[in-house]
Amino acid sequence: MASIFTKIIKGEIPCYKVAEDDNYFAFLDINPNAKGHTLCVPKKEVDKLFDLDEETYNGLMAFSRKVALAIEKAVPCNRVGVAVVGLEVPHVHVHLIPLNVMKDMTFQHKISMAEEEFETVARKIREQL
Ligand code: AMP
Repeated sequence: MASIFTKIIKGEIPCYKVAEDDNYFAFLDINPNAKGHTLCVPKKEVDKLFDLDEETYNGLMAFSRKVALAIEKAVPCNRVGVAVVGLEVPHVHVHLIPLNVMKDMTFQHKISMAEEEFETVARKIREQL
């Protein structure tokens, strides 16, 4: 069965889209650690990061870097943190999290955002790409 992220990539489930190219897709995390928390996903559906073939792995890192640089310009923060977890969704995704304090990286302090805030922050990141 297709992963929830494959369904998002195919447009079968809505998301706040940030970026897309032939092989990768980025969208806002729906339960963010911080405003601007973004997920970068390879369109190829593979569960674990280090099971990706080398080309897809390197491409995902390059794509994530571009998105992270845009986040840094669009969202006030000290820097953008990176994490790969995958315990919830078995489809590789890179978490890009605008950081100000260490707890922003813990995945235990979530923020709530209104729909308009998601739309606005996604647009601001897109504008910096
Ligand atoms: P993990 O697999 O542990 O790295 O966590 C999966 C992440 O995907 C979590 O931060 C969720 O909030 C996020 N997530 C799950 N479903 C969606 C969705 N439909 N849209 C955006 N983010 C999602």
